Amino acid sequence: MEPTTTTPRPEQDRQRFDAEAVAAELEPLGASEVLRWAFDQFGQNLYIACSLQKTSSVMVHLATEINPRARFFYLDTDVLFPETYETRDRLAERFGVEFERWHNISLQEQAERYGDRLWKSDPDACCRLRKVEPMREALSTVDCWVSGIRREDSKTRAGTPKFAWDKRFNLWKINPLADWTERDVWNHLNENNVPYNPLHDQGYPSIGCTHCTRPVVPGQDSRDGRWSGSGKTECGIN
Ligand code: SF4
Repeated sequence: MEPTTTTPRPEQDRQRFDAEAVAAELEPLGASEVLRWAFDQFGQNLYIACSLQKTSSVMVHLATEINPRARFFYLDTDVLFPETYETRDRLAERFGVEFERWHNISLQEQAERYGDRLWKSDPDACCRLRKVEPMREALSTVDCWVSGIRREDSKTRAGTPKFAWDKRFNLWKINPLADWTERDVWNHLNENNVPYNPLHDQGYPSIGCTHCTRPVVPGQDSRDGRWSGSGKTECGIN
């Protein structure tokens, strides 16, 4: 899917909900109930982001149970693992969904403009080009997006509400799995026999691009394998 022109969002969109009140209302609800509320409010203007990690598998399963026409997308940095593309295809086949692909300039064009291995020389710039910009384009087409982040993921995600205005991308954001534990995720996948990224079974609790993701050893945090040794912890999306 090619990027489109970003149009400014009307101020009344942001005033449509009292974010804190809605987040409090959604807090005791389960993930399916939160998703159902989101579909009721936003319909086809709800866009579900998929990193094609384990929580994406949960989300595709839950969302398609409620709305078989649920819309999903992923950011193709062109340097995802083969296992990640295979997971996309297995989920698409099992649940009959399409993952809309958003991307930016080719790796060759990036190298010509910014030099080889931008992910080494300036990973923030690389993430901005290959993730944040296509994300901004994708989200400019809808009113609310769904993320699979969990409070357990990291200290920076510990305060994640289930519903909020996303200032960075200028639309509503919903986090139905915010209060799920690691065990909740695996129980759900196993009990429902949902396909998931096989790298999770090979020491990768968190999976991003090939250049910036390493397996972790026992005792390390789940996101310690991302941008390992660089001090960077997020790509700028969540
Ligand atoms: S995770 Fe690494 S390769 Fe992927 S966009 Fe960010 S810096 Fe570039």
